[in-house]
Amino acid sequence: MNDAVATAILGDAVLDPREVARQFPVLEQSVHGKPLAYLDNAATTQTPAAVLDAMRRFEQHDRANIHRGVHTLSQRATDAFEAARATVKRLVGADGRHELIFTSGTTDALNLLAQGMVLAPEGEPLLRAGDEIIVSGLEHHANLIPWQQAARRAGASLRILKPDAEGRIHVQDLRALLSNHTRVLAITQCANATGYCPPLRELLAVAADAGAITVIDAAQSVGHGQLDVAALGCDFAAFSAHKMYGPMGTGALVGRRDLLERLAPLRFGGDMVDTVSFEEATFADLPARLEGGTPNVGGIVGMAAAARYVADLNAHGLSAHLAALRAHGVEGLRQIPGLRILNPDAAEAEAIISFVSDNVHPHDIGTLLDEAGVAVRTGHHCAQPLMRHLGIVATTRASFAAYNTHQQVDQLIAGVASAIKFFQ
Ligand code: PMP
Repeated sequence: MNDAVATAILGDAVLDPREVARQFPVLEQSVHGKPLAYLDNAATTQTPAAVLDAMRRFEQHDRANIHRGVHTLSQRATDAFEAARATVKRLVGADGRHELIFTSGTTDALNLLAQGMVLAPEGEPLLRAGDEIIVSGLEHHANLIPWQQAARRAGASLRILKPDAEGRIHVQDLRALLSNHTRVLAITQCANATGYCPPLRELLAVAADAGAITVIDAAQSVGHGQLDVAALGCDFAAFSAHKMYGPMGTGALVGRRDLLERLAPLRFGGDMVDTVSFEEATFADLPARLEGGTPNVGGIVGMAAAARYVADLNAHGLSAHLAALRAHGVEGLRQIPGLRILNPDAAEAEAIISFVSDNVHPHDIGTLLDEAGVAVRTGHHCAQPLMRHLGIVATTRASFAAYNTHQQVDQLIAGVASAIKFFQ
């Protein structure tokens, strides 16, 4: 696939969300007779024409199975797949020490990692009995349950780096949890339920000093162009394409090659082997070793187009745009009586506003917002332990992307105000 597909979308212009929105066919619709304000980007971002075109072009011209054919289409498909790997690696700051494994998403990547650390068909497993795994209390279930299961299977123990009552993580609390047995620190770059971003660099440095393998869940940050694994110095990071303007069902685990080499493969079969007899098999080198079976090649071509798209947005002020939308939303929602915003501090939060009302259930707010054309998410956001810790059952969550406008933020604020008025 041609590397120029998604570049130069914005030319030299500073990010204009209306111009960006025109590149997303799905955003051109009305909902309940109102223009759609899609503010559910932390769950899934929409996909621009450049990504849809890249996928269609692959399916129409290059579709064939990879790594196995000498014919032209198979070679083109293989080239597209490997070029996609290089493109996505570039987006996330991977260098010569890293390798990237394509997965079906963040959940798949974290399961591949946690289970692969426990099982070791050859050599020593990375996780053993008596080890300790520290997981932050901010996590999506996808960065908690795989570690619960890994701890159980390895005979290791799980320790939770609890946030304070406001949902903030403190470095001294990590220091107190670290021990000679600490093997892993797993933590999100941005909490999907609250928008809070922990002091990651410091936490990772302290954990690495203590000899821990550091794992970040970058599901929420990758679409903001904020993941740089080399600069952060993390050992592994997991992310999904559908949160970075790419297709669903694709994602990646990126990590230190020397550690990835010590993960046990979990998907045995075609493509991941070297030699096979009726009795046994030897396995291929990375990355194929951890990518058994036919991958979603068309999706991964789309993921690479999305990576170029994010890089382009990033070069045109994406972060500043998202910060301005969030600040506007926080300012407006703050004026609504009885509404509490989690982690309002702009310095510590990404493009998410999560809030609760004293009197109105989030599902009621979400339903009335939908009628006003505003799509938000309500519920526990797959972070039940964090919600319980904060004493909350559910929140309403608005989350922003490049195509959102200040007018849509006003639509949100007005919709929430009238929903609360309606139910009071
Ligand atoms: N981690 C975080 C922080 C998330 O926000 C999500 C998606 N909501 C996931 C993990 C899981 O991602 P996926 O469903 O794409 O595997």
